[in-house]
Parts: sequence; structure tokens; C-alpha cells
Amino acid sequence: MSYIKGYRCTICGEFFETKDNLLTCPHCGEKGILDVEYDYEALKKVLTKKYFENNKDYSMWRYAPMMGIPTDHIDEMLRIGWTPLIKSHNLADELGLKNLYIKDDGLNPSGSSKDRASGVAVLKAIESGAKVIACSSTGNAASSCACHAAHMGLPAVIFVPKRAPIGKLTQISLYGATLVVVDGDYKAAFKLSKEAIARHHWYNRNAAINPFMVEGKKTVSLEIAEQLNFKPTDWVVVSVGDGCTVGGVYKGFYELHKIGLIDRIPRILGVQSTGCEPFVVASKNHEPLKECEENTIADSIAVGIPRNPTKALRAIENSKGAWISVPDEKIIEAMALLGRKEGVFGEPAGVASLAGLIRALEEGIISKDESVTIIVTGNGLKDPNNAQKAIVKPELMEPNIEKLDIYLKGKGVI
Ligand SMILES: *Cc1c(COP(=O)(O)O)cnc(C)c1O
Ligand SMILES: [Zn+2]
Repeated sequence: MSYIKGYRCTICGEFFETKDNLLTCPHCGEKGILDVEYDYEALKKVLTKKYFENNKDYSMWRYAPMMGIPTDHIDEMLRIGWTPLIKSHNLADELGLKNLYIKDDGLNPSGSSKDRASGVAVLKAIESGAKVIACSSTGNAASSCACHAAHMGLPAVIFVPKRAPIGKLTQISLYGATLVVVDGDYKAAFKLSKEAIARHHWYNRNAAINPFMVEGKKTVSLEIAEQLNFKPTDWVVVSVGDGCTVGGVYKGFYELHKIGLIDRIPRILGVQSTGCEPFVVASKNHEPLKECEENTIADSIAVGIPRNPTKALRAIENSKGAWISVPDEKIIEAMALLGRKEGVFGEPAGVASLAGLIRALEEGIISKDESVTIIVTGNGLKDPNNAQKAIVKPELMEPNIEKLDIYLKGKGVI
């Protein structure tokens, strides 16, 4: 059964019944992005700790009653979510933290958090009878949409900016989607996809517009909370592009709090790159968001015009969190550090959370006795070219044991 009560506009606050089946608010237009609202009293009775103890579905679909999705085809889907929450020892020691957790969302089927939203999108598209699903993305929403559409036999048309990294581009084509590489930036790709979707009546997976994408994304918080026995960390750190992911992170905790499963909502640290930091600038200057350049190696958060500003701003404000930005060099350092200390390989936007945490510790925004979860939103193998900046490339070794010993001594391993 569906526990959805309806949709509320994030701008004007008006409430709409489910049967209206809206994408955005009719009064506010495209900016009037909607929130899905549930019957929380009814959910409270069903979603008890016992319910979760007895639930053997270790994927994000274990939260289906809170997601408002049709359940008919769930069993046919790839397994999304229930990614590991790793208790950090080495990295925690290095940073002087007592309680640090790493949520490795790069271990989803297509290698990023976007699978959580794409899984919902594909089910919704099937439900709506759409013949094609379409989206524009910096790369991960694209590759994940292509992945889950392929598995469910749904044709996909995917728009990406020309700078999308090679791993992501390769995934999209490999999954058999129709790939449109737009000669321009993400803004240009988004605009072209919007026109094409309207013209051809495809199912629209564009994260910002479609309110159900946040319903998928929020499962990362539901998992973090449950994996910590419903006592989430003081802080949760996540990188921000369009703002849907951070919006989902907040909504997940907000709803768990509302149905009485957690006592408090963690504070959320939203991380951007100094090369593209519209949220950070707006919050620093207390002014509305202004378009920014998209100048960072962290392509997944190179979003000059965030499409979901309201939900992102609310997430940080309502959780009493903070915004922070980090230069690309620090993102590259964080990538190497996370790999070396924990064996977790994240793409630049994925490890931006760690770089943001380090900066927040330096600035005293987060203190060392607080507990922290960093979300690694994407897998490092997606972007090998930027990952190479984080390593020293090996030289060729002559097949000679003496020479090998010299090399090993230099490395300190013998
Ligand atoms: C999409 C993405 C983000 C940011 O999510 P938004 O919803 O655009 O804010 C962060 N990291 C990775 C790896 C992503 O793919
Ligand atoms: Zn409205």
C-alpha cells in the first residue's frame, strides 16, 4: 500500500493530492519543486525497529513503504543500496577523531549514489507506461540511469556535457543507452534534454525536477541510521552539486525523526569545490544563489546553476549544519589519503566529503570529539584520469632481483 499523502511545493507551501500526479507546482512553475509527504502516523505503526530486524531485504528496497514507489517489479531490479558503513580506524587516528564512519556508496551497481534515484526512476517510468526514460547529468545519474534501464529493458536517452569522464561515458554506451554528448557544459546538456523530453514525452529522470529522486536518495540516511542501530553520528558530510543528494540525506533523517526511530537529526556538512561553489557563496553573503563557473575536477559537483537549491539550503539550515568549500588540490589529497588509510577508492566528488571534513576540523566547525559519517558518493574507477593526479606513476622494473631489492629498500618494505 502507498503511504503517500500528497505533494507540497517547496516554494509556496501549497499541498496537492496524489491523484494530481504532478512533477512541479502549477503556481510556481519549474522552481516549484515538490516534496513527497507521507502519512507519518500510519508509517510509525508499521516501521518499527522490529520491522527492520525481521526484514531480510538488504537493499534500499527494505524502505519501500517510505519511498512511495510501485513494488510490482522490485524483485526484478538490480540490488541497490545497503552499501557498507565502514568504521574507520586508520583515518580516524590520522584525523584525531574517535568515531568516524565511511558510507561507501561507490559500491552500488553502477558505482555511485545515483543508483538510489535511478532505481526509483526506472520503476516509476515503467509504472507510467513510458516508452523511453531520459536524463541529463554530469555523468553518474546518466550512467546509473542507463544501467537500471538496461536491466529492465527500457530504452534510455542520456545527455552529458562533453567533459564527462571516460569511465562514465564508457558505462553509458556499454549499457546500450542512446548517448548524446553535448558540445557544452552541464547547463547546456540540461537545457537540451529538457527540450527533447518535452518534445518526445519521455519519462524525465532529471533529478531536480522529479520529486521521487529524493525519495531514492534519502535511503542513504535510512541505512546510515539503521547501520548505527538508529543512533546516527553527530555529523554527516556529503558533497553538493544540484542539491538533490543533500536534500535526500536531510529528508531521510527528518522522516526517521518524525516517525520516532531516531532522537535527533545529524548536522549536515555540505561540501563544494572552490572551483564551483554557488551554495557556499550564497550562504557566506546571505544572498540568493548566483550562477557560477563549473571549474573543478570534481565533475559530479561541477554544477553552476544548482537545480534543487531550496531542498539543499533547507537541509543545511534545518539540520544546523554548515557549508564549506575545498580546492581541487585538497580533493586529490583526500583521494590518496582515503585509499591509503582505508582501502576505499572514491572519485573526486566522492572524496570531496573527506576534504570538507578535514577543512571543517581545521576551522573548528566540527570538533574532534564529535562523531562523523562521510558519504563517498562515487567510485574512483569512474575517473581514472583524475585519480592519476593522486598517485606517483610507477617506473618500469628490469626483471632483475638486485634492482628489485634496491627499489624495495627505497620503499622501506625490506
Ligand atoms: C551527483 C553526485 C553528487 C552530488 O549530488 P547532487 O544531487 O547533484 O547535489 C556528489 N557526488 C557524486 C559522486 C555524484 O554523482
Ligand atoms: Zn508552489
